[in-house]
Amino acid sequence: MSTTRAYLDWNASAPLRPEARAAMLAALDAVGNPSSPHTEGRRVRAIVEDAREEVAALVGARPAEVVFTSGATEANSAVMRGGWRTILLAGIEHDSVLAPARGLAHGGQTRLVDLAVNADGRIETENVVDGAHEAAGDGPALLSLQLANNETGVVQPVAAAADAARSRGLAVHTDAVQGAGRRAVSLKALGVDYLSLSAHKIGGPKGVGALVIRDGAALPVFIAGGGQERRRRAGTENVPAIAGFGAAARAAARDVEAMERVQALRDRVEAQILAVTPSAVVIGAGAERLPNTTSVALPGASAETLVIALDLAGVAVSAGAACSSGKVGASHVLEAMGLEPALARAAIRVSLGWASTERDVAAFAEAWARATARGRAVA
Ligand code: PMP
Repeated sequence: MSTTRAYLDWNASAPLRPEARAAMLAALDAVGNPSSPHTEGRRVRAIVEDAREEVAALVGARPAEVVFTSGATEANSAVMRGGWRTILLAGIEHDSVLAPARGLAHGGQTRLVDLAVNADGRIETENVVDGAHEAAGDGPALLSLQLANNETGVVQPVAAAADAARSRGLAVHTDAVQGAGRRAVSLKALGVDYLSLSAHKIGGPKGVGALVIRDGAALPVFIAGGGQERRRRAGTENVPAIAGFGAAARAAARDVEAMERVQALRDRVEAQILAVTPSAVVIGAGAERLPNTTSVALPGASAETLVIALDLAGVAVSAGAACSSGKVGASHVLEAMGLEPALARAAIRVSLGWASTERDVAAFAEAWARATARGRAVA
């Protein structure tokens, strides 16, 4: 990738933080198995436990509440497969929540209660109350509600919804992947039992994440066959990745306050889009949103065409979720928000982070003006 490129796809994956890279390189050379009692083993164990403390601190949890996983997909899947009779969830959740939940519903083990979202993509707490009522007396029930959406950045009222759910006996999960490091996150303040994290969204490596399980909350073993991660997830730990995750978590916690600068850049991206193409629609603009994300639909345009044109101009953004790129069609998130399919197919996501610069924004603005000139972005 040439250095002149503007990378504005942080919600798909953030660049590796220098602190994370340094921690990973050091951990690569650490000899021994973290489960071994000898000096080498204990040194490697210390790397894992230091990282656990950093990850716990990022979300106001205790280190013993953190279970390292291969990523948030695994964490979300483990929660969904927790033996629930009823799961309350909205159509705006990430596929790694929706797919396992729907699989269980298909198999007849679990009943799903769909939480409607308004035009801005937010659920209503009253719907949680109604859903809890439906679930009452029918075995273990879970509310799964993401902290913030990966495509739109729209923030959900997790604390209020969790309060409503827990007071009616439901367990609560939040997929905090996109919220962590971008706003203050506290397991206790949110009042949730389970919280999923992904390292590569906060400047750690890909392929590692965590499920934070509130002390006392039950969950079946994810992977059996060893004593690692308090027996919940067997297998020798991915020590370099965990080390990188820990260093990234520490840096992300430090940088939460610097998000104001990122928000100013994001607001400029939106202002410039609207100046060049006044018919553009900022999705979820009426709701509280993450400071780094904007989802913008240009009526009559094709997001696919726009993404390619911007890429050729040196600017990386995404159409819908990167996880589902290659899949043609509207995003399930925008569909769940009731966006007209033609408009949903015209939506691109621009997402920034701590290293984003004014130059990135200027490069985007120039590329956008060119890509949308004389109807070039039309499908
Ligand atoms: N949840 C959300 C909201 C996400 O954005 C992502 C990543 N696209 C995931 C879960 C999955 O995370 P991972 O890549 O660590 O499996």
